[in-house]
Amino acid sequence: MIINHNYYLDLAFQLAERNLGQTGLNPSVGTVVVKNGTVISFGVTSINGKPHSEFNALNKLKNCSGASLYTTLEPCVHFGRTPPCVNIIIKKKINGLQTRHLEKKFIY
Ligand SMILES: [Zn+2]
Repeated sequence: MIINHNYYLDLAFQLAERNLGQTGLNPSVGTVVVKNGTVISFGVTSINGKPHSEFNALNKLKNCSGASLYTTLEPCVHFGRTPPCVNIIIKKKINGLQTRHLEKKFIY
């Protein structure tokens, strides 16, 4: 199966763009979860910035082991106002991660 990473990253960016202005001081991030060539979930940064996009995309999934995550910003690794997103990525057994540098328009 040929996987078009740019296609799924573009979907994630479209989500981020639709959510512009809703995330307070946090960047507007979009996330798409793909398994076997099918989008099985997506998420955006919540109003005022928490929870983060990756958490919103993954938390509702019961079984996404082996899926790939496409997100518009590198997942956070620190405790801030939310737990680090890498925790749920590991817990859900995500197999691949694709990201691209955040475009300036998504940062306030
Ligand atoms: Zn995060």
